[in-house]
Amino acid sequence: MSTSPVIKLASGEQIPIELHKVRMVQKLHLKPVEERLEAVKAAGYNSFLMSTRDIFLDMLTDSGTNAMSDLQVSSMLQADDAYAGSQSFDRVKQAVKDVFGKEYFLPVHQGRAAEHVIFQAFVSPGHVVPMNYHFTTTKAHIELPGGKIDEIFTEEGLKVKSTFPFKGNIDIQKLRNLIETHGADKIPFVRMEASTNLIGGQPFSVENMRQVRAVCQQHNIMLLLDASLIGENAYFVKQREAEFKDSSIGEILHTLCGLADLIYFSSRKVSSTRGGGICTNDVRLFDQLKDLVILYEGFLTYGGMSVREIEAMAVGLRETQDETVIGQSPAFIKYLVETLDAQGVPVVTPPGGLGCHVDAGGFLPHVPQTEYPAGALVAAYYIASGVRGMERGTISSVRDEAGNDLLADVELMRLAMPRRVFTLSQVKYAADRLLWLYKNRELVGGLRFEYEPKVLRFFLGRLVPTSDWPERLAAKFRADFGDSL
Ligand SMILES: *Cc1c(COP(=O)(O)O)cnc(C)c1O
Repeated sequence: MSTSPVIKLASGEQIPIELHKVRMVQKLHLKPVEERLEAVKAAGYNSFLMSTRDIFLDMLTDSGTNAMSDLQVSSMLQADDAYAGSQSFDRVKQAVKDVFGKEYFLPVHQGRAAEHVIFQAFVSPGHVVPMNYHFTTTKAHIELPGGKIDEIFTEEGLKVKSTFPFKGNIDIQKLRNLIETHGADKIPFVRMEASTNLIGGQPFSVENMRQVRAVCQQHNIMLLLDASLIGENAYFVKQREAEFKDSSIGEILHTLCGLADLIYFSSRKVSSTRGGGICTNDVRLFDQLKDLVILYEGFLTYGGMSVREIEAMAVGLRETQDETVIGQSPAFIKYLVETLDAQGVPVVTPPGGLGCHVDAGGFLPHVPQTEYPAGALVAAYYIASGVRGMERGTISSVRDEAGNDLLADVELMRLAMPRRVFTLSQVKYAADRLLWLYKNRELVGGLRFEYEPKVLRFFLGRLVPTSDWPERLAAKFRADFGDSL
């Protein structure tokens, strides 16, 4: 018997089910399509520049937007305010030990701070870091001290349509070749990212991590685990890896974490709070990092976090062992992906642990990549629904020296599913409006930059449509839906 938050109806249909009740709410705003058109225009067709005042369902990200439990919120009342030796720290340290099986714990203010500290300590010019896939902040923080990343995902990793259960796996042969080419002394560590964020929240298997560990051991290379999305990865291991079908999530977490020498995480994801941390059983690694934590983050018993966050983090980490909690996002994502897939909307499969990723290239084949189909789809979908997604395509890329766009491998619109935030009727609405948009996709045109920042242009860039397509799309919506929102 599984405790996955999915139930079978009498009809045989399976639906995700909210195994929690709503006890505090926030009012949402579903504005008429004409106002949505104005809002997206005012934001330069960039969803990062929108206000939640104009947004119905915020599917931009899961970072810091998961819902906290009653136990997390109430734990904040017992926060022990102390610069050094806070009992709140003792509680989170014990939670890290119980959940990840690691003795030594360093708190930091968020995930990228852990990356900053670890990469400052271990990465030097000329170093190469093999990994299943990068995360934006990871790549930047490895390049800062002069290192390079090398992504050694398997052939299935970047395929939009796939039935491969573990698209986050590392290709072991590529890993061996890389060590052969560069020499083990140029590789400070191998990094494995749980539920690989940028390729769709796709997990790796325990079997794959065991193989990576064996190669690392053979060459005396450290294995680093980015555990920001470890809960979802453990959930998929239970669902998809036969050896673990009867294991508890707690046991799977211990197995995964036991294979890593050093672990870091963003608490904005894993424990639905703020903050982050680094943990290990190797006191020498701890000693190499602790001075940098004091230098950049704060004293070793708070690391830049408020004690309230530390308390909520301790409870949130323990809740990561509960399949009904960590299964919430994957179960709703699966429902959304399968609903869209069944209607022919191009989405990334199999469903991952972070959100539903819509293939904008397949959705809008008439929009050339230089006119940013993923950005156009995010804007069009907002007009059609009031739902905010995130562009993960060429706008999120950069230009080459000649000034041409470096076209992204895939053009994706990400619809993130923060944990325990949306209900099934909201997810049904999101699917319905995307289906409507798919039927009217010919109406959607491209975008071009009006203001383009030099770095990380996707955050602050402003764009304009290449024609009056947004007006025509809004008019079609009004004609089809009458006076409905
Ligand atoms: C979000 C994230 C980070 C960075 O964490 P922040 O708390 O946003 O700084 C690092 N790695 C992965 C896999 C993430 O998803």
